[in-house]
Amino acid sequence: MINFQNIEKSFGEQLVLKSINLEIKKGELMVLLGASGSGKTTMLRMINGLENPDFGSIQIANKRLENRPLLELRKEIGYVIQKVGLFPHYSVYDNVATILRLKNEKEQVVKEKVEKWLDKIGLRVSVYGRKFPAELSGGEAQRIGLARALVAKPKIILLDEPFSALDPISRLKIRNEFREIQKEEKLTAVMVTHDVLEAVSMADRICLLAHGEIQQVGTPQEIIYKPKNQSVKEFVKGDQ
Ligand code: ATP
Repeated sequence: MINFQNIEKSFGEQLVLKSINLEIKKGELMVLLGASGSGKTTMLRMINGLENPDFGSIQIANKRLENRPLLELRKEIGYVIQKVGLFPHYSVYDNVATILRLKNEKEQVVKEKVEKWLDKIGLRVSVYGRKFPAELSGGEAQRIGLARALVAKPKIILLDEPFSALDPISRLKIRNEFREIQKEEKLTAVMVTHDVLEAVSMADRICLLAHGEIQQVGTPQEIIYKPKNQSVKEFVKGDQ
């Protein structure tokens, strides 16, 4: 579904991604795991064209990214980051509805879809619909951010440390809820985290990065029990 081929990227003098080759399969949840500065976010941002590689190419569904108009690409890709960026002057309802209205959906369809997705992520429209972002807890805002990304029916969802600012209980809950939805909708998901436990509990496969290089790609079991090198061993033990 998403294919990184021989990707290299530098910022000024700093080489941040080296010879990256990675295939992310349709419907899988791939976690990009690594220490701060290892290049995870840069890889993620390349998938929706927010960064361009210096060398190599990225293909989505067998089409090279550089040949696709960005607007068309972003219609297929949902992007959720730690700071959700809800529209502050829009109600919760309107935050989720906006993308549908931009697609000229009928107001009745908008209503059904907003209600469905708010319900799926555990917030009832009758309680939350009229609230504004400033009236939400961090976990609730993050849920709305997810609903806003999911209501557009993306084929791919990109998540950059989406749950890291939440308390441990909300975090666990929202992780499980997201994972259920992701499987149900057969969404291809790429999630960035530096948290080994989060990666292991959510991923189909993990891509472990260090200093801009892929150290290992494998299932959580393979990463934990069959680390390929010292760098992977130390990272999963928490010695990094
Ligand atoms: P973190 O977990 O801290 O978010 P990360 O693994 O996601 O880290 P990246 O954000 O991909 O790392 O950054 C990799 C390296 O590239 C870092 O050293 C960072 O300083 C550098 N970098 C990222 N974006 C830019 C930019 N726009 N300009 C210059 N340097 C950048």
